[in-house]
Amino acid sequence: MKTKYKRIVIKIGTSSIIDADSNIRKDVIESLTAVLSGLNQAGLEVLLVTSGAVGVGMHTVGMHTRPSEIGELQALSAIGQSELMDIYADHFKAHDQTVAQLLLTRDVVDYPKSSQNVLKTINTLLKNNVIPIINENDAISVDEFDHRTTFGENDQLAAIVTNFVNADLLIILSDINGLYDANPKKHPDAKLLEWIPAITEQLRSVAGGHGSQFGTGGMETKLNAADLILQNHRAMAILNGQDPSIINQLISGANVGTYFSAERPEGRNNESK
Ligand code: GLU
Repeated sequence: MKTKYKRIVIKIGTSSIIDADSNIRKDVIESLTAVLSGLNQAGLEVLLVTSGAVGVGMHTVGMHTRPSEIGELQALSAIGQSELMDIYADHFKAHDQTVAQLLLTRDVVDYPKSSQNVLKTINTLLKNNVIPIINENDAISVDEFDHRTTFGENDQLAAIVTNFVNADLLIILSDINGLYDANPKKHPDAKLLEWIPAITEQLRSVAGGHGSQFGTGGMETKLNAADLILQNHRAMAILNGQDPSIINQLISGANVGTYFSAERPEGRNNESK
């Protein structure tokens, strides 16, 4: 495949891998693992940031409403993370693709010694054609004033990882085609924005919204992630994760989803389409 990218981070949200009845979307995971294995085997360095620990934990124990109590969420994430990793490992194995699990907390990337160490681990995995699968270590991270080790949510985690590993591109797979000029659930004539060079207040005011009951993301967190990416002179895309083969289209230059970059990408403009 012809592409200008060398190292990319793909983030998939809970709403793409778990449906409204709390069933795991094995079809999405099957397609995602096929695409990522294909890219890796074609010579691209690929990292996967995945949500879904809490959602899969809810599925495993048969819970349909997300609890709010931290201890319960952390216990669910501990149940779900190992199950989630099993599902990924099984699917990647079918494509002869080795994967590795990395569970991060914020202190690990904030402290130079530990961040250099984890970077060395990631680079070693990539050099050996292993796909790192990253999530926050939800079961143990805390959000205390004097000891904050949580990232909060995974769009932020994915943007931090992208900058940290010096990747060219972050692709966020969501349950929507990209960013629209109005909320498409309320305004059926809302237009998809194809290129965004900067995150403005006006853009934030149209994005609004929140995620599904299983995850924590929404458009606001995606714009925060894009802001972090743009500040570091990198690129980000939001794509619909229902069919992950769209990743191949994007990295070969097709005009799909919403693309964030300071420079205008070939074939896109910043009018709505
Ligand atoms: N780390 C959380 C999980 O795996 C997801 C956070 C998010 O949805 O942004 O459940």
